[in-house]
Amino acid sequence: MNKTIIVSNRLPLQVIIHQNTLKIIPSVGGLATGMKSVHAEGNGIWVGWSGIPEEELSTELSEKVAKEIRKEKCVSVPLTLDDVEEYYEGFSNKALWPLFHYFMEYTGFEEHEWEAYKRVNQKFAEIVLENIDDGDTVWVHDYQLLLLPQLIKDKKPNITIGFFLHIPFPSYEIFRTFPWRKEILSGMLGADLIGFHTYDYERHFLSSVKRILRLDAHFNQISYHDRLIKVDSFPMGIDYDKFYNAALEHSSNSKEKSELYRRLHEHISEDKKLILSIDRMDYTKGIPNRIKAFEYFLHKFPEYKEKVRLVMLAVPSRSNVTQYKKLKRETDELVGRINGKFATVSWTPIWYFYRSMPFDKLIDLYISSDVALITPLRDGMNLVAKEYVATRINNDGVLILSEMAGASLEMNEALIINPNSFEDFANNLKRALTMPLKDQKSRMKFLQKRLKRYNVEKWAKEFLKSLEETNELKSNII
Ligand code: UDP
Repeated sequence: MNKTIIVSNRLPLQVIIHQNTLKIIPSVGGLATGMKSVHAEGNGIWVGWSGIPEEELSTELSEKVAKEIRKEKCVSVPLTLDDVEEYYEGFSNKALWPLFHYFMEYTGFEEHEWEAYKRVNQKFAEIVLENIDDGDTVWVHDYQLLLLPQLIKDKKPNITIGFFLHIPFPSYEIFRTFPWRKEILSGMLGADLIGFHTYDYERHFLSSVKRILRLDAHFNQISYHDRLIKVDSFPMGIDYDKFYNAALEHSSNSKEKSELYRRLHEHISEDKKLILSIDRMDYTKGIPNRIKAFEYFLHKFPEYKEKVRLVMLAVPSRSNVTQYKKLKRETDELVGRINGKFATVSWTPIWYFYRSMPFDKLIDLYISSDVALITPLRDGMNLVAKEYVATRINNDGVLILSEMAGASLEMNEALIINPNSFEDFANNLKRALTMPLKDQKSRMKFLQKRLKRYNVEKWAKEFLKSLEETNELKSNII
């Protein structure tokens, strides 16, 4: 029976080793949810890193981990501490991530990290090849594995390979600065189908392929080495029902309310509103910018002092990379300065949490907030925006969304802003706070209808359907 092999940098599970005992906890993130049915089908497997460097595993423990992981239909790629430092923290997060998000000034091009990136992509290829049979399908995910499609195709030309990029693909003028631009594009072109969140990213990719590799695309197909490669956009959705149902349960009178819920609601009344932002602590998310814009708002519309509170959840991320350390310091200072400047005995303008929250608390935050303020400077998609909408069971609430987030292209009913314009920010925040309920509801209903229909499972199905159709393209060429 043919199977689908899913490949991503990390496996959808967490391995916890404590005094030689082993615990495997499946993760519940967006990708894991979307892939659930694909992964569960037949003898499908997931290939990726377990999160534990080889140096931390004795041979005996390593075998034990492999065995336990296998029970979850996962196969681990062994990575050393050097691999993690150079390939993941280095090349992936210090070169590809900033450049693809238009942060050229943060981008470092280190030859030894590029070598590590090639080496680790090769490691992934070896594990995939060990587990592959004729007729199988491979679906490779994201920017850490851009070379993998070609490495598999070279050895197994008849295998159908899909690749999906979860971050933006930048415009040619940015991408062209990359020293290894040809290798990156050729690596991706090993796939039969290349997917992006939006049509803009797809367009940028095609333009780079045309100018750098001198290959033409007809409609959305590239012919390369006697093969036809399809390029398309598939905006990733969320597990809509999970968020909607959790919000229903959390809002019901019979549910015992959490301390967080009670504290949030102490602030809410007819004329007092909560504004929510949730992001990983990443410079792409525009956190300092948002705080400064909020300060500008309080200056421009002083009548909102003591009437609004910004609840800001920043989830720690990549905290041993220099830029992220600086960002954390800057954020702490800004929050301190603004709270110091505006606070009164009974009011603190910003409630700032630097931690991750369990699902239940996230739901409490979503359902308690009148406005969601999602203002990244650049974001491949942004699922938080979609999750906020899914939890609005009474169709109230307003989403303010940056036009730089991929999600903005399918969420027209949100208030779409340019996050760099404080004027745009302040005016739209006022508009959100004063929006009549009728208007809130009609916008929310449209947003919800779309998100419910195009949920994450549908996203995965559409991608795989399109990937299957590439087999027809192949037979047409022959
Ligand atoms: N999230 C989480 N714990 C938290 C805060 C957020 O698991 O404490 C989740 C959130 O529900 C969302 C994801 O993290 O599914 C963030 O995805 P998004 O696309 O918004 O941004 P990314 O972090 O992938 O850049």
